[in-house]
Amino acid sequence: QAKAQGRNTLCFYDPAMQAAASARSALEADIRQGLQRGEFLLHYQPVVDARGQVQGAEALVRWSHPQRGLVSPGDFIPVAEQTGLIVPLGQRVLGLACAQLAQWAADPMRRHWRLAVNVSAQEFRHLDFVGGVLQVLEHTGADARRLTLELTESLLLHDVEESITKMQTLRERGVGFSLDDFGTGYSSLSYLKRLPLDQLKIDQGFVRDVLTDPNDAAIACTIVALAQSLGLEVVAEGVETDGQRDFLLRNGCRQFQGYLFGRPAPISDWVQPAS
Ligand code: C2E
Ligand code: MG
Ligand code: MG
Ligand code: MG
Repeated sequence: QAKAQGRNTLCFYDPAMQAAASARSALEADIRQGLQRGEFLLHYQPVVDARGQVQGAEALVRWSHPQRGLVSPGDFIPVAEQTGLIVPLGQRVLGLACAQLAQWAADPMRRHWRLAVNVSAQEFRHLDFVGGVLQVLEHTGADARRLTLELTESLLLHDVEESITKMQTLRERGVGFSLDDFGTGYSSLSYLKRLPLDQLKIDQGFVRDVLTDPNDAAIACTIVALAQSLGLEVVAEGVETDGQRDFLLRNGCRQFQGYLFGRPAPISDWVQPAS
């Protein structure tokens, strides 16, 4: 208690911390306004199979800010998380993503595509996360079986039982679950076995030096093998070169995402597939 009080006092008088706090509340107000004005949009990055065929995409949020231009999620997601704005923002992202899925469903070339959407910790922990997802699915008419939610290890381990319950409820409707940035967290393998997952994503940090760093290569191959033995799909993210792709392919990885196949872009920039 004394410690907490001390921290508050320090916070109040420390000019650097106070500057950070006021920058945060300015950004908070800005995000809130951005939500009202519809400034958040999605870029889509292709996910391809072993033959390089697009089998879906990951939706990545961008903020089209009137003064700052296109802002990356790293610059506003943390504050959105701290302020609770991640809940309405996440709902917006999901709404846009599911509307896109519903549009693909009407296109014979794209109706089989899956769409992955990132979910933050505070968003997932929110009391009505499951209800929010189901509401968006219903509202947009998107097929739940084409939607994958990307979660992270730390998020799931916060309250494993609660996480499992939420995941199971959505899985019954057909929603898939992927563990993003796999290998960077602290999941114990016993938890991994219990979580109702469909997919692991090898963190791009292991893919980057997979050809030059034997440790990264070993970790990447271990994740592929682990996924296979648990009956999970595995996606390598951050694949930028043919060499990285070939190495991962030789070692059993069958799904890829990275600049080699396409950068995140508005869907209108995607090349129309030949029909
Ligand atoms: P993530 O989900 O792990 O997404 C992958 C990030 O790697 C994206 O950055 C993507 O643009 C980038 N990337 C993809 N391919 C390559 C590559 O070949 N090389 C390199 N160097 N980078 C690549 P981005 O879009 O800046 O997103 C960063 C993180 O922000 C995401 O990491 C995710 O954790 C979070 N995020 C993005 N969109 C959302 C969202 O809608 N909601 C939430 N809650 N988080 C989001
Ligand atoms: Mg992701
Ligand atoms: Mg990732
Ligand atoms: Mg990441």
